[in-house]
Amino acid sequence: MQDYDYDLFVIGAGSGGVRAARMAAGFGARVAVAEDRYMGGTCVNVGCVPKKLYVYAAEFGKSFKDARNFGWNGETPAFNWATLRDNKKAEISRLNSIYDNLLTGAHADVIKGHARIVDAHAVTVGERRYTAGKILIATGGWPHIPKFPGSELAISSNEVFDLEQFPARLAIVGGGYIAVEFAGIFNGLGAQVTQLYRGPLFLRGFDADIRAHAAQEIGKTGVDLRFEVNVQSITPGAGGLQVLLTDGSRIEVDAVLYATGRKANLEGLGLESVDVKINDAGSIDVDAEYRTSEPSIFALGDVVGRMELTPVALAEGMSFARRQFGGLESTVDYEFIPTAVFCQPNIGSVGFTEDAARARFGRLRVFKSTFKPMKHTISGRDEKTFMKLIVDRASDRVVGAHMMGPDAGEIMQGIAIALRAGATKAVFDTTIGIHPSAAEEFVTMREVWREDTP
Ligand code: FAD
Ligand code: NDP
Repeated sequence: MQDYDYDLFVIGAGSGGVRAARMAAGFGARVAVAEDRYMGGTCVNVGCVPKKLYVYAAEFGKSFKDARNFGWNGETPAFNWATLRDNKKAEISRLNSIYDNLLTGAHADVIKGHARIVDAHAVTVGERRYTAGKILIATGGWPHIPKFPGSELAISSNEVFDLEQFPARLAIVGGGYIAVEFAGIFNGLGAQVTQLYRGPLFLRGFDADIRAHAAQEIGKTGVDLRFEVNVQSITPGAGGLQVLLTDGSRIEVDAVLYATGRKANLEGLGLESVDVKINDAGSIDVDAEYRTSEPSIFALGDVVGRMELTPVALAEGMSFARRQFGGLESTVDYEFIPTAVFCQPNIGSVGFTEDAARARFGRLRVFKSTFKPMKHTISGRDEKTFMKLIVDRASDRVVGAHMMGPDAGEIMQGIAIALRAGATKAVFDTTIGIHPSAAEEFVTMREVWREDTP
């Protein structure tokens, strides 16, 4: 066997790369990890973690108002962007060092710099060349902003966290996770937010009833939600950025955030020197073992564009390490992966949408519950929770659960376990609720809302 510097060379110290590296090292492999930007990758630096911290910040605003009818009187405190931004920075620096320590503690070598593949078993970082039995590409994704007049004036989620000035007027383009979450964040922090989506209803891919409910609830929070419209051009003006829309109208804002999807990060990776196939979506093609068309090169996480979620990248990293270095059978099951959109209130979802379930299982029974959360009976906030269960009529198995309401992201994690375990509606019905809670509605929906007849 050839003598390589390492058994595994991981490119990218993000969610997937770090998990794969640590586990492979735990199985005794000699591992190196190259990182050219920030330890912990997107999730830690410009993704899940800072996003959730900003969501917490945003939710205080409305909570101060909610508190009044509960007897808490007084001025609503003023929000200071610099305090939030700088406290976030400090927390992320702390996490960066934790990630460094996790890798060195696992006896993986951390190499700071941009890695370029030079052949099927070799990578360069700066002037140095490293050889490895296996190379793992875990380089994640990068925001994609389409080209149009003035597109260079738009920012992406990479920049929005660290803006020097708080954007009091913000336009957000897109109707996916990032657009919806940041509309909620900046609306909650007090900005005037206009969200522009090119189609008839945002959150494509989510259950149709959830999408309609989300449009209704987010509209109520004060976000100016506009569908079937796009940006034609952005020009700088004396009072701010002038945004010309495809319906002929104009808005003036302080910043335009583009959240129009992410593409695999293959920049300067040297793929031209190996046989790694890229698919039509621009992601790396891999098999069930995360092996590319070049047998010694593997890829996982956002760069393969399956489900661009941190827990998925972690699962893929573990599966890869177990199989390649632990001698264990391991695959990732992509069904019933729960997900949340951290808007206000949250969306939580697991399993099939109603349309996808009908296509897969045939006849369904659908249950729903819509109600005002108990807290808002006194707070006076005009907000409704929506919950939905989708049941395969033939087997009685619950194949989809969807919710928009406070803590939906937390609630859905437990429901996901039940769905993965194959729970039937009868099991939900015989489960005793926790009272008083919103989650108990999931075990008390008795009346069929929609039923497919033979
Ligand atoms: P990444 O975490 O992107 O890591 C890739 C790493 O590779 C980076 O550190 C990069 O600098 C490095 N790299 C790239 N090229 C090279 C090179 N040539 N040499 C050396 N290093 C290189 N997911 C959730 O599950 N929940 C959420 O709430 C959530 N919120 C998000 C919010 C935002 C704003 C964004 C953008 C994403 C969010 N995600 C969320 C998605 C999540 O962040 C990603 O799915 C996850 O980070 C993917 O992990 P990864 O390991 O594939 O890539
Ligand atoms: P998404 O793919 O979720 O959404 C992209 C949005 O941009 C869609 O509404 C799409 O419209 C729209 N769009 C695409 N191209 C254009 C264009 N040229 N002009 C106008 N609109 C356009 O991507 P995001 O950037 O929001 O997020 C990337 C990924 O990161 C997510 O898919 C998710 O996997 C992950 N993420 C997860 C989070 C979580 O778990 N809470 C939070 C944030 C991100 P259309 O629907 O018509 O195609």
